[in-house]
Amino acid sequence: MRFHGCGYLVIMTELSVYVHIPYCAKRCTYCDFATFTHREHEEEAYVAAVCQQIDECPYSTRPVRSVYIGGGTPTHVTPAGLCSILNRLRDRFPFTPDAEISLEANPASADGPRFEQLLAAGYNRISFGVQSFNDDSLRLLGRLHSSNDAIDAIRTARAAGFTNISLDMMFALPRQTIRAWTADLDTALDTGVDHISAYSLILEAGTPLTARVRRGLLPEPDDAAAAEMMMQAHRILSGHGFDHYEIANYAKPGFRCRHNIVYWTNGEYLGFGSAAASYVNGCRATAVRDSSEFIRRVQLGQSVIAAEERLPRAEAVAETIMLGIRLLDGVDIEHIEERYAVRLTDVLAPVTTRLQQRGLLRVSGPQIQLTEQGMLLADTVAAELMACVEISLRADSNR
Ligand code: SF4
Repeated sequence: MRFHGCGYLVIMTELSVYVHIPYCAKRCTYCDFATFTHREHEEEAYVAAVCQQIDECPYSTRPVRSVYIGGGTPTHVTPAGLCSILNRLRDRFPFTPDAEISLEANPASADGPRFEQLLAAGYNRISFGVQSFNDDSLRLLGRLHSSNDAIDAIRTARAAGFTNISLDMMFALPRQTIRAWTADLDTALDTGVDHISAYSLILEAGTPLTARVRRGLLPEPDDAAAAEMMMQAHRILSGHGFDHYEIANYAKPGFRCRHNIVYWTNGEYLGFGSAAASYVNGCRATAVRDSSEFIRRVQLGQSVIAAEERLPRAEAVAETIMLGIRLLDGVDIEHIEERYAVRLTDVLAPVTTRLQQRGLLRVSGPQIQLTEQGMLLADTVAAELMACVEISLRADSNR
């Protein structure tokens, strides 16, 4: 362990790496991610810029325990491009022997030889953005694949040799019934995947789907139905041996997503590519969102950072609790006290007792965990804990 310039204790551990691939064949109706269509002409230059950014990274002595290539649609770039990014990372960083190396893939771009090539290069986990197995819902979401395409893609990845496959699923879709969501979950289980993420649709401002809802062409999301769908996922997936380890994430034993656990435990990570965020030594930095601008800056040797902040200790502690409470194992307050050299137990006691009395939190020694009821109100629980920590630690630092 050692102190850093931001003034609080940081435990020096392994790093995780995120690489953003900002290209898609078509924009989905609900998507506001930093991704672009019709930029095939710059993809080669983008891969070269990411490789250059990796070569110039100053944290090259720290071992990498997980890599996540996300987007966008990473499989929109060539397998050769994806392999060269991974090779560059391996050249630059020591990898732990059990490093998890995940790749997001669109079921519409599944192809056996491509998967074999990626597996041979070292990718060992694939995550398909399936969202639904209902063709009407897929059309509404503007996805390029059909339900059958998704099932074929999973089979193809398995046949190519991937032993760790994840699906992203979405609920609380317009016109989706609890019955349709249950059918989606049953089909997901039938595919035999190892990990399922189940997210509620969020109507982001400025997307075509949100515009249709606002104009009354589609029904508003129903909070009660969304809560019921979330609990249905909990019941069905837990009942089939999946470990519900984070509010929206379920894994067969041994298949928790190591990379995302780093985010939920507020661990350190490096981001490469446009719009990618890094969090190292108490500093969060985010790269420019536009992929063409990212390439231009790397080629000119300019900084790609668009925003940078050094988190004050009170905010870092509050964030660690806010993120960690999403994990169903909960948060160990003593561990956070040790990590940030702060006293929290007495500070949090009134609010944890109140949340426990409301049936939202379970408290067992230093461990605090959401109850089933608490899972449905996780944002409220997190906000109350965060407010308490920030007020108290800020007051302390002003004394
Ligand atoms: S594939 Fe993913 S990143 Fe691309 S437009 Fe659809 S939701 Fe957005």
